[in-house]
Amino acid sequence: MSHTVLVTGGAGYIGSHVAVELIEAGYEVVVADNMSNCDMTCFEGVKKVTGRSDIPFYKIDCCDAESVARIFKEYRIDALIHFAAFKAVGESVAEPLKYFRNNLDSFMTVLGAAAGNGGCNVLFSSSATVYGEADSLPVTENSPRKPATSPYGATKQMCEDILEHTVKAGIGIKGTALRYFNPVGAHPSALLGELPRGVPNNLIPYVTQTAIGKRECLSIFGDDYPTPDGTCLRDYIDVTDLAKAHVAAVGRMIGGKMKRDYEIFNIGTGTPVSVLEIVRTFEQANGVKLNYRMAPRRPGDVTAIWADPSLANRELGWKAERRLSDTLESAWAWERHLAGKDD
Ligand code: UDP
Repeated sequence: MSHTVLVTGGAGYIGSHVAVELIEAGYEVVVADNMSNCDMTCFEGVKKVTGRSDIPFYKIDCCDAESVARIFKEYRIDALIHFAAFKAVGESVAEPLKYFRNNLDSFMTVLGAAAGNGGCNVLFSSSATVYGEADSLPVTENSPRKPATSPYGATKQMCEDILEHTVKAGIGIKGTALRYFNPVGAHPSALLGELPRGVPNNLIPYVTQTAIGKRECLSIFGDDYPTPDGTCLRDYIDVTDLAKAHVAAVGRMIGGKMKRDYEIFNIGTGTPVSVLEIVRTFEQANGVKLNYRMAPRRPGDVTAIWADPSLANRELGWKAERRLSDTLESAWAWERHLAGKDD
């Protein structure tokens, strides 16, 4: 009998890719999303890619305990993957209470519903942001968490703690936190991908929107960092690879293979890539020229961060596989699809 996974925030960027990979791995998926930061594009993409028009979808807010409880009554949920959260760093600095209220409440509400139903395996989407400016690189799961520099980052740390303490309470919850590095790219079908609202904050959507002519020029934030080419280093993880890590982690939880009831894994490639390397690889992979200029550093950016993913490689049997050039091709194909120019 196949297992059922509830994916909150399953119509969003990462959630929709995870839904695809879960279904392709044989899971039944239930999606819950309040659609506050996306439209149905990606969810429709999930249905097309998987050929499944019958995926249960609940337009609910995960802070609404009654609505969440109803899903747990209707389905035997074997695992819950929680993505439903606000994610704009800058906005979180301007509106901290909105972020704390929503991101903490929605997670505690779904955890409460899971516990109320006799327990569940819970996967929380955490972030490398919990490491801040790391003392040594690459970061392992044992690298210290640093004080958060934004309310968004603080909610990631707090939700990790909430999950850990809930697991410790022995009320039937087992937990995994996946710390993502920089998720990028789109599904190879170009039917789902990142859909930023307004001017993108993240690098890759800014790159693709500049290439297609929606933005005039990419600003590279800082070329005087102590790195080989002066621009920041990050660990860019393909969103499909990232989604597969979730399938592996869910399988480990459901299959009773966890070594501890609460586990943390870094999900990255282990390879640092500079902003300039992203620009050059994007240009080469897609045969386009990108209009860019050097600009001042962006406040809050760390110089460099990349993962030591060896724990996930070993324990989850998962490894990042896609080449950066393929990932950047997929990002470009998605942008062209959105613009109606796909070949
Ligand atoms: N970046 C940039 N120009 C942009 C957006 C981002 O130079 O328009 C740089 C940013 O300074 C960082 C890297 O690209 O070094 C990745 O930024 P992003 O916001 O995508 O992710 P972050 O690592 O900040 O979470």
